Formats: sequence, C-alpha cells, structure tokens
Amino acid sequence: MGTGTRFDVMVVGAGPAGSVAATVLARGGARVALVDRSRFPRDKACGDLVGPRGLQVLHDLGLAPPPGLAVGDMVVVAPNGRRLRLPAVAGATYPGRALAVPRLAFDAALREAAQAAGAEILTGRARQACWADGRLDGFRCADREMRADSEVRADVVIGADGAASTVAEAAGLVEWRRVLWGFAVRWYVQQPVDLPVIAWWEPTPWRPLPGYGWLFPGPDGRANVGVGVGMQADRRGAAAAVRAADGFVAHLRRVGLLAPTANGRGQLTGRLGGWLKMGMVGTVPARGNVLLVGDAAGLVNPLQGEGIAQALASGVAAAEAVLAGPGRAAARYGGELVARHRRFLTLGAAAQRQLLSHPQVIAGVTRALTAPGVGRGVAGAWALLWNDLVEGAPPGAARAVARAALAVGTLAAAPGATRRWFDDLQRTAALGYRCPSSSVAGR
Ligand SMILES: Cc1cc2nc3c(=O)[nH]c(=O)nc-3n(C[C@H](O)[C@H](O)[C@H](O)COP(=O)(O)OP(=O)(O)OC[C@H]3O[C@@H](n4cnc5c(N)ncnc54)[C@H](O)[C@@H]3O)c2cc1C
Repeated sequence: MGTGTRFDVMVVGAGPAGSVAATVLARGGARVALVDRSRFPRDKACGDLVGPRGLQVLHDLGLAPPPGLAVGDMVVVAPNGRRLRLPAVAGATYPGRALAVPRLAFDAALREAAQAAGAEILTGRARQACWADGRLDGFRCADREMRADSEVRADVVIGADGAASTVAEAAGLVEWRRVLWGFAVRWYVQQPVDLPVIAWWEPTPWRPLPGYGWLFPGPDGRANVGVGVGMQADRRGAAAAVRAADGFVAHLRRVGLLAPTANGRGQLTGRLGGWLKMGMVGTVPARGNVLLVGDAAGLVNPLQGEGIAQALASGVAAAEAVLAGPGRAAARYGGELVARHRRFLTLGAAAQRQLLSHPQVIAGVTRALTAPGVGRGVAGAWALLWNDLVEGAPPGAARAVARAALAVGTLAAAPGATRRWFDDLQRTAALGYRCPSSSVAGR
C-alpha cells in the first residue's frame, strides 16, 4: 500500500468502472489513486459477456479488450423448451455484437491501462472513512501484507467498489430497503457453444424460478453457465439461486443444451457467486465530492442482469464530470446518469417488481413471446428493448415496436414507487450540491 500522499481523486475498486474512470482522469492530468482490495489478476462472478454499448465505450477510449470471442445473435428458451433467436443488429451508437472474454483477463487489462495512463495502483481494502470539514476525504485502507492500515486522502472519492459498496455506505448514499438485489452463480464448462442462450426454468410446472439461467460461449471452447434470481430488498433470497443452481444445470442437460458429463468432459468448475444491484433504485449516484459508478450506483439492467457496459459508461461520465470541475461534478454526473437511464430503468425496475411478485407471469409471457407466429414478429423488438438498445437503434419495425413498448411500459410504471424515486433524484440533481473546488479542473 502506498504512503500517505494526497491525491486529486481516490477511485475505490478496480473493476471495469473504476479502471476506466481512473484512465480518463489520469489522461486528463489528475493525480489518481486506484485502490482495490484484491491482487490482480482476480476472478469475478460474471457471464463474461461485454455488451455492444460496452464495446463502444472501449473503442471510443482507444482501449483494446483482451482476445475474446465475438458474439452476435442470442437464443432465448421458454420453460416449455420453445426457442427463439433474437437478432443482434448494429445501431448508430453501438456495434452489432458483444464480446465473450473472461473477467480474469478483462479486468486485469483495464487496470493495466489505468496504470499506463498514470494512475497510481494501490492494493488495500477501503475500510474506514476519513472525514475533513464534514466531507469524505479518503479511507483508511487495510492491506493483508501490512501490519498497520494506511490512509489514502483525496479531494474527490469515486466509489467503484461494486454492489456492496463501502463508499456508498460511508457517504450515506444507499437506502438499503429500496434496493433491487439479485444474486447469481456461475461456473465454467469445457464445451463449445455456438450462440449465447438465456433460459427460463420451472422447477415445478408454472412455478418458474424468479430469474433465469444462461449458457454463454467463451474463448478456447470453454462455456460460462450460470443462474440468477431477483429478490427485491430481501437479500436472504440469495439462497434460492444457490439451491436452484444444480437443478438448473440438470435442466440444461435434459433439454440438450449442456453436454452430459462423460470422461471428464462436461464437468462444471470454478463456481463463484455474486450480487447484482439493479435499476438504480435506492441509490443516490452522487453527492458532494462522492460519485458512485457501475454496480456501486446500482446500474445493472433489471431485465437481464447486464452491468459491464453501464459500469464502463458511468466510469467515463464520472471522470469527465470531475475533470470539468469537481465543484459541480456531483450535480453534472448525477443529472447525466438520471437523464440517460431514467426511462429504461423506470420500466425495467417496475417490470422486475411485478414479475417477482407474480412469477407465473414469467411462465406465461415467455411462452407467449416464443410461440410460433408471435416470436418472429417480436424477436427484433425484444432484443432492442431487453438489452436497452432502443436509443441509437437503426430505423425499422423492430425499433418502432420497441419504442412503443417502452412508451406504454413507462406510462404503466408512472404511478409507482420506482418512478417517484427517479423524480426525486432528478429534483436533487437539478438542485445540485457544490463541493469545494480543487486542483483537478483545468489541468
Ligand atoms: C454471476 C454474475 C453474472 C454476470 N454476468 C454479466 C454479463 O455476462 N455481462 C454483464 O455485462 N454483466 C454481468 N454481470 C454484472 C457485472 O458483473 C457487473 O455489473 C460489473 O462487474 C460491474 O463492474 P464494477 O466495476 O462496477 O464492479 P466490480 O466488477 O464488482 O468491481 C468492484 C471492485 O471493487 C473492489 N472492492 C470492493 N470493495 C472494496 C473495498 N472496500 N476496498 C477496495 N476495493 C474494493 C473489488 O475487489 C472489485 O475489484 C454479472 C454479475 C454476476 C454476479
């Protein structure tokens, strides 16, 4: 762990959000400390699929991801086994593909890019908040190899420390009882997979799992398989994902998606679980000199669990807001985040609440949408809406249907608690919250 140097910005967490934020800040001339509790390369529970918007962010930054597997169309499988292929189409603001790349390599490469840009890399767990003049001034950080904690102090703190963010907690930015939690477990399996698959599963007929499972291709013929559940604010529901995991894998083998185990093949390895904090509900993304990015801000898509693209984009947005002037960074960044995500997340979060309260709707809707005659008509719009790709989508029937569904869904969600949360956030962001200027701006 480094010594007690003072930084312009302390970024806590070197996942995709933190590393990209540190890269942009360092390129902009800020003195940045990028602190993570793990030694890298480190694994992270994930489906390892970086979505189109995430690839676009990396491209815009001139960052090349490590070698992976380009992935296009996706197959969704209803509980009755009916399949539908969702097309991947390039938009004006994103490519028509995703990338399958293990997080072990992906996150390490982004952290190295931050270091190459000039960020100071520190290993230690941000443990105890340091305060100065009533504002967060850094953290005491514990490093397993050090006997004593050391302090990292900075004018601005960016919380990029994942779903259970210590920074968000220290700054009082989370209302835990409102958060939409999910929990998911993943493994690796040595099996070539052609197309990514999302599958819904009913342990007993018409009583589906309150979530879904996946089987994603990966480089070197190693697929990523997993299952996740949503549980709203009650985190005890995570046990359901763990309990369901074996049953879901058996289901995938039954329907022929996963190869049977034989001669050492088809064995699942590397089991790892992780939290998802979804829909931004319950989290104030920025206040004073503290900005939350990625999972710390709860940006995971409540409909399908994607979070890397949002982590990357929010990391860039937070860094640019700080470089433009730390005094107004929280207001600028918070306002931008609400403007960008409000519409989709209002719909996504409200839909998730409904589906979790009435899981039989999942059984009905997935059967209906994959039915012959219906599926072909809705596949394009489904791919756009579900993956939050409507903005920037190419003109055509799919975009028109997706836009209409988004408008109707947003209207339907209007009277709910989710909408009120975003209205409140927007008001707070408009009011702004100034913090003292520091030396970052204008460098
Ligand atoms: C099982 C599973 C599957 C998923 N599959 C996908 C997928 O296929 N595609 C997709 O887009 N998204 C997926 N997600 C979501 C995705 O993993 C996250 O949205 C993404 O990792 C968010 O990045 P981040 O940088 O915000 O946080 P993280 O990647 O969680 O990084 C946070 C970092 O902070 C560090 N940290 C935490 N606390 C501290 C502390 N106190 N002090 C110092 N360091 C700290 C951690 O060590 C970690 O390195 C999945 C999630 C799960 C759980």
